[in-house]
Amino acid sequence: MTTILFAAGRRLWAEYEVPLRTALDATGLDYHLTCEAAPETVDYVIYAPGSRLQDFTPYTRLKAVLNLWAGVEKITGNPTLTVPLARMVDAEGLTQGMVEYVTGHVLRHHLGMDAYITNTAREWRPVVPPLAGERPVTILGLGTLGLACAEALRALGFPVTGWSRSVKTIPGITTLHGPDGLAGALRSAEILVLLLPDTAATNDLLDAKTLAQLPRGAVIVNPGRGPLIDDAALIDALDSGQIAHATLDVFRTEPLPAEHPFWAHPKVTVTPHIASETRVPSASRVIAENIRRGEAGEPLLHLVDRDAGY
Ligand code: NAP
Repeated sequence: MTTILFAAGRRLWAEYEVPLRTALDATGLDYHLTCEAAPETVDYVIYAPGSRLQDFTPYTRLKAVLNLWAGVEKITGNPTLTVPLARMVDAEGLTQGMVEYVTGHVLRHHLGMDAYITNTAREWRPVVPPLAGERPVTILGLGTLGLACAEALRALGFPVTGWSRSVKTIPGITTLHGPDGLAGALRSAEILVLLLPDTAATNDLLDAKTLAQLPRGAVIVNPGRGPLIDDAALIDALDSGQIAHATLDVFRTEPLPAEHPFWAHPKVTVTPHIASETRVPSASRVIAENIRRGEAGEPLLHLVDRDAGY
């Protein structure tokens, strides 16, 4: 019998219990799924970063921790977690949601939609937008989400540049990598999308220096993580006109405090960390498949590199 502890909180347990059982039943495993168990009996933990479970030491027979979220910055540093950690990668749910968010916000800025949506003066002011082929977009991060967004934008006709840590070759997309490739990735970015994880190496990646490397009037869309951007430097760049607009989904402190200047800034759009939610039915299938793999002695999918931090 495989014991699976759902440690992602009571509220999520109510949403996940039935879909998880459905997905686990389909694997044919002999399992016990519970939200309360003696630590020494648990084989797998289903996890979310805000979980009360922080000390994994008593979980002596634990085989893996399966995170319901894609971002793992709140877990990778936990010294008591010594078993493999898998994160959420879900093409049907999380990835599809992010592709929709990013293409939607890129098209909003590319087409200049705001001028018409807010045209309460009823002024006839035609501004014909360029075609996508004339609007270079750069995506920082070419992982699961960045790559899917890059391919969707390329399919719409945008010239897409992507930047990652390692070398990549992706048909139809200009790729750059590493610290030496960053300036080149920024130089052409009329629209810049951030889909990097929050690690020591990405903290404050967009600061006064790198914001100045973007073309004047560039737009930023950040559904990655708040600490990627130096908030004060971004506000200065918005005020000076260096950056025309920032659409931000993630913040250093969430919920974004009411007094934060982003809320009132006319060139900032705040969305409340909704770019892409984990979708319960498809995420349950991802979790069940990983447990099936673990029990069959197959390598787990979507493992986190704890040293790299993502
Ligand atoms: P991923 O598959 O791990 O991809 C991360 C990408 O970032 C990879 O291409 C990686 O390069 C690159 N990268 C990491 N560190 C770098 C560095 N120092 N320099 C250059 N490139 C670096 O992650 P993902 O699934 O695409 O998700 C990306 C992030 O999106 C998550 O970490 C999470 O923070 C965020 N997210 C937000 C939401 C939301 O609703 N707002 C939802 C889901 C996820 P390599 O390919 O070379 O490793």
